[in-house]
Amino acid sequence: MKQWLADVWEGFWTVLVGMRITWRHLFVKKATLHYPEERWVLPPKSRMRLFMKYEDCIGCGQCARACPVQCIYIKSEKRAPAAPPIFAANGQPIKLDVHVFDIDMSLCCYCNLCTYPCPTDCIYMTPEFEFATTDLTQHLYHFAKQGATFITEDPKKKTAAAAPSATPPPAPPATPAGA
Ligand code: SF4
Ligand code: SF4
Repeated sequence: MKQWLADVWEGFWTVLVGMRITWRHLFVKKATLHYPEERWVLPPKSRMRLFMKYEDCIGCGQCARACPVQCIYIKSEKRAPAAPPIFAANGQPIKLDVHVFDIDMSLCCYCNLCTYPCPTDCIYMTPEFEFATTDLTQHLYHFAKQGATFITEDPKKKTAAAAPSATPPPAPPATPAGA
C-alpha cells in the first residue's frame, strides 16, 4: 500500500513538473499567433516575393548582373529603328524589346541586391510571403508580357509642360517720381 501511494504521488508530481512551463504561460502575454487567422505585422523593409513591372523595364540587365545566384533570366533585342518611342514611368527611353524576364524564386536568396541598380525602380520586393508550394516549377515567374501597353509620350516633357514657370513674372514698370 505504501509503495502504491508513493507511485501515485510520483506520477502526480511528474505531471505537475511537466506542466510547469504550461502553467507559467497561462499567466503571461501569449507568444504565438493563430496563423493564418492572425498575422504578425512585418517590418517595413521585409524581403519577400519579388515583382517586376514589365512596362517600366528598359532591359538593361543590371538586376541580373547584380544577382549573386543568377536567378534572373533576361532576353532582349534592340527595338526596330522605325518603332515608335516608348518610355518607362520615370522617363527613361526603352530601346530594347524584352522578350523574356524570368525570376526563379526557388533559387532566390532574398538579398534584394537586384533592386538597387534598377534605373527605373521597376523591380522590387513585395510584402507577399505566402507562396509556398511543393512544385518548384511554380516558383519560376514570367514577367514578360505580350501586348503590354507602354507610355508613348515622354513623361519628363509632360511634367515640364505642366509645371508652373520658374521665371518670376515681369515687374510692373516703375512709377516715375512725382507722378
Ligand atoms: S533578391 Fe538577390 S538572389 Fe533574389 S533575385 Fe534579387 S539579387 Fe537575385
Ligand atoms: S535593372 Fe530594372 S530596368 Fe534593368 S533589366 Fe532589371 S528590371 Fe529591367
